[in-house]
Amino acid sequence: MKIALLLALAASLAASPSFAQKKAPAAEAGDDRRGYTDTPPLPGQPWKVHDAARPRPPKVAPGEPLLREAPPADAIVLFDGKDLSHWMAERGGKTVEPGWKIENGYVEIVPHSGRLVTKEAFGNCQLHVEFMVPKSATGAGQGRGNSGIELMRRYEIQVLESNENLTYADGQAASIYGQWPPLVNASRPQGEWNVYDIFFEAPKFEGEKLVKPAFATVVHNGILVHHHQEIIGRATHRHVATYAPHAPEEPLSLQDHDQAVRYRNIWIRRLKPYDQQ
Ligand code: MG
Repeated sequence: MKIALLLALAASLAASPSFAQKKAPAAEAGDDRRGYTDTPPLPGQPWKVHDAARPRPPKVAPGEPLLREAPPADAIVLFDGKDLSHWMAERGGKTVEPGWKIENGYVEIVPHSGRLVTKEAFGNCQLHVEFMVPKSATGAGQGRGNSGIELMRRYEIQVLESNENLTYADGQAASIYGQWPPLVNASRPQGEWNVYDIFFEAPKFEGEKLVKPAFATVVHNGILVHHHQEIIGRATHRHVATYAPHAPEEPLSLQDHDQAVRYRNIWIRRLKPYDQQ
């Protein structure tokens, strides 16, 4: 009898779905590992903001990185591992000197020192960023390796440990935060480098009016995770994002969410229309 039970248990374990298909852990509502049930609906989607019921994207193991590609000749290299001369920092609404620490060719967030903001402003762009959540990082849900690529300081491609760490679908790594989960979960294990290649179209305003929303195409570790996806507004927590008018070019920022995350090899290219020299 005991053996039969053990066999049944082993069979059920073997048949258990992989991590990505697992249901979110049972937890109290309002838990950022499970997601929320009391948030407003997302426009045009059958889900609420950070919906606890929204399925987690399937997990796809990216290929092994073969080589680190150097930036193309026309890229603006925002961080080459040596200095933060292209950046300022912002803390409590004030501009301050960057407090993040540079070591071994990467820069690591020093929690509470403020987000990094480029001195230069950008609109339509191709952006390459590499990040790693250090092995030492602990915490759960939105609390493990949380940072973000804030295009125009507003439109966030989430940075988080999402290889093992569960959170709501629209808040995991490579999500358009609070709006769209990535098509698949391409996260590498904690302690390894992840690569984002982001192709971004800035929104257009005429006076106070939005005439064209922003769009993002995102490749995570060589895998397409957003394909010319419309962004519904400025990233926000527990609310439906909205737009407010801003300049055609705005600085790029890297979020300080009070957790250690490392960045390296950051470069950007301004995108011009066809047939322009
Ligand atoms: Mg974030």
